[in-house]
This record gives sequence, structure tokens and C-alpha cells, in this order.
Amino acid sequence: MGSVTDPKTRFVGALVLLGAPGAGKGTQAKILAAQYGIPQLSTGDLLRDNVARGTELGKIAKAMLEHGELVPDKLVEDMLAERIRMFGDTQRGFILDGFPRTLAQAEWLDRFLEDWTARVSPGQSAHPVVINVAVGYNQLLRRLTGRRSCPTCGRIYNVYFQPPRVADICDIDGSKLVTRRDDCEDVISARLKAYEKMTLPLTEYYGSRGRLHEINGDQELDAVTGAVLKLVKNGDRV
Ligand code: AMP
Repeated sequence: MGSVTDPKTRFVGALVLLGAPGAGKGTQAKILAAQYGIPQLSTGDLLRDNVARGTELGKIAKAMLEHGELVPDKLVEDMLAERIRMFGDTQRGFILDGFPRTLAQAEWLDRFLEDWTARVSPGQSAHPVVINVAVGYNQLLRRLTGRRSCPTCGRIYNVYFQPPRVADICDIDGSKLVTRRDDCEDVISARLKAYEKMTLPLTEYYGSRGRLHEINGDQELDAVTGAVLKLVKNGDRV
């Protein structure tokens, strides 16, 4: 299975990214996926795809997704297991984005990885590398409440970090920028609180097993990426 160091051939295993909305874990997941040539598996995307295709799972999950409620563990676990087993692209590893979200899912993942690792790469550690991209509450609020999007071309700006050249106007097509409903402060604060409540048991689960790696997500994007890549490169599995 390739040399130990070549990122495009070596076994990477499962990488779990935890992080609040706005922490930038989606961005880091994409960078890792490109660097290691392994897929980013977002359970939210997989569920939305099932809804769009009108599958049995999609029909059950549709209302839950619309209300932002968690889909039952068993359904999400079966969907993820099928995705991992079905395509050859996961043989060296994969990045999980949005999973696990409950303690039961974390326990299921451990059992699944024991079995999966023994089959695809016997002798390798089955433990996931878990990275929590931690960003301070105020910084998250600024990132999320500062977000503006162009209703015409979809470009995203941030009034604090990436403002348009003229306030409230899209650089590309001159449209007036808008704030999306779920980027309003009351909704954001509810989303952040829900996230915190949901994640605490997970960080405790991985933390007590010595598997949790905290990365300071308040830093510049490049610094966060550097820290994430270094961690994965060293293959910090315990
Ligand atoms: P996301 O794109 O990660 O924000 O997920 C969108 C929606 O999909 C969530 O609000 C849940 O309804 C559902 N979902 C995604 N991942 C999971 C998961 N691991 N467990 C249960 N529901 C999930």
C-alpha cells in the first residue's frame, strides 16, 4: 500500500473533523481531501442527495432535514457504511464531516472501523484521528453574522474579513448583498448553542481516550491548515 510518507499512496485511515458552524472545518476537509487524495464524506450532503433522488431514506429524512433535527442514528450509520464500502475511493481512508454527531454514532464508528481496517489494511490502527477546530464564540459570531451573499452570482463576502469594494454591493455584478436567514444573530446563537450541547459528549468521549486533537481555529486560515496537515502527517494515532 505505497510508501509510508507519500500522502497520495499511504494509508491515512479515518479522519474526523469536529467544529462549530463557521469554524472552517469544511474548508480544511477539502484541503485534506486534495492533499491525501481521499474523499470528504459529509453526511449532510449524502442525506440531501438522498432527498433529491427521492430514495426511501430520502423520503424519511426530508422533514427532519427541513427542521434541522437529527436523522436517527441507524439510518445515518447504514447510509455511511454503504458509501464507504461501495466505492474504491475509500480504501486508504476518508474524511468525515458532520459525523459522528451523537455518542452512539461515535461508538458505532469505532466498531465499524475495527472491521473495515482489518479488511482494507490489516495491522494498521483502526482508531480515527479526531480534530476539533476550536474557535472562540465571539470570533464565530463575527464570522457568521458578517456573512453577506450576492443573490445573483452567489459569491460570499464577510463585512469584517472580506468586505466588498463598495459596502453592501457585489464586486462582480453590482447586486445588493443580502444576509441569509440562518446567518442572522438570533438563529446563529441558537445554532451555536445546539452545537455546543451536541459536541460536548463527543469531545469527552474522544478526549478520555486520548484521541482528541485541538487546533486553534482563531488563527489565519494558512496557519490552521498547517497545523491540521502536520497532525495528519505525523499520523497521531493512539
Ligand atoms: P449538515 O450539512 O452537516 O449541517 O447536516 C444537515 C442536516 O442533515 C442536519 O441538520 C441533520 O438533519 C442531518 N444530519 C447530517 N449529519 C447527521 C448525523 N451524523 N446524524 C444525524 N443527522 C445528521
